[in-house]
Amino acid sequence: MNIIVCLKQVPDTNEVRINQETGTLIRDGVPSIINPDDKNALEAALAIKDEKGGKVTVISMGPPQAKEALKEALAMGADEVVLVSDRAFGGSDTWATATVLAAAIEKVGEYDIILCGRQAIDGDTAQVGPEIAEFLNVPQITYAKEIKASEDKVTVTRFTETGDYVIESKLPVLLTAIKELNVPRYPSVKGIFQAYAPDAPEIPVWSINDLVIDPTQIGLKGSPTNVYKSFVPTKSKTAEIIDGLNGKEKAAILVNKLADLKLI
Ligand SMILES: Cc1cc2nc3c(=O)[nH]c(=O)nc-3n(C[C@H](O)[C@H](O)[C@H](O)COP(=O)(O)OP(=O)(O)OC[C@H]3O[C@@H](n4cnc5c(N)ncnc54)[C@H](O)[C@@H]3O)c2cc1C
Repeated sequence: MNIIVCLKQVPDTNEVRINQETGTLIRDGVPSIINPDDKNALEAALAIKDEKGGKVTVISMGPPQAKEALKEALAMGADEVVLVSDRAFGGSDTWATATVLAAAIEKVGEYDIILCGRQAIDGDTAQVGPEIAEFLNVPQITYAKEIKASEDKVTVTRFTETGDYVIESKLPVLLTAIKELNVPRYPSVKGIFQAYAPDAPEIPVWSINDLVIDPTQIGLKGSPTNVYKSFVPTKSKTAEIIDGLNGKEKAAILVNKLADLKLI
């Protein structure tokens, strides 16, 4: 079973600070982590490999520092990792990001399952996984909370707010993982030694020249969406104490106020 995991390095949101003047994320000195849902995706891939055998390849698109996330993936048990990085990819929106990742997946070649996280905690769109599936023309099942893989198909329990669906798909298929799927394993001691050893093999970096890609579909120019404005909403705390003779009267006043505000 050949499994590809798309993994994004993101700022640790517990530490995120916003520049109030520019509205941009202050990245300096902010620790980076593997996007949490992507760890669930990687765990699912490793669990399928443990059971069925095969190979887990992890792909990340990002700046050179994303190698750290890929080293952690190796320490957890990934067989191969690739960083996809080029200045030409800078400013990519989700469409352009998925275009690049789909091209990288094509370059890896054979795959049975592609696993993404449901959503990245910084961009937060949950678009990249489904877009990759569309570009590669493979079926997709999002919000996977349980995955059973066999030689030629997967059976996935898909979480929705109105109930769970059990969906079967032929391979190849793209799945997006949610946190309920599993508990990601810790890197093993052996894995840590191998991934972080001074003589560990260099993490391969693919640039635009390594991919079959239409340059008009990537980077800022190839991005159909633009961030018009970015700002932190101001928090306001206003409270009104409702006065009345008794609970019934207070409730009536409250109902009138809510009706005036068109909230009920
Ligand atoms: C107009 C515009 C300009 C932008 N410019 C920049 C910029 O200059 N620099 C910048 O860093 N960001 C930029 N972004 C943000 C960037 O587009 C998103 O970070 C990226 O497309 C992923 O979207 P997301 O975070 O919403 O991921 P989601 O769609 O929420 O992620 C879902 C899953 O897709 C996979 N995935 C997502 N991104 C990656 C990745 N990079 N590598 C591997 N797997 C991934 C993961 O499995 C993830 O769990 C820009 C966005 C827009 C709209």
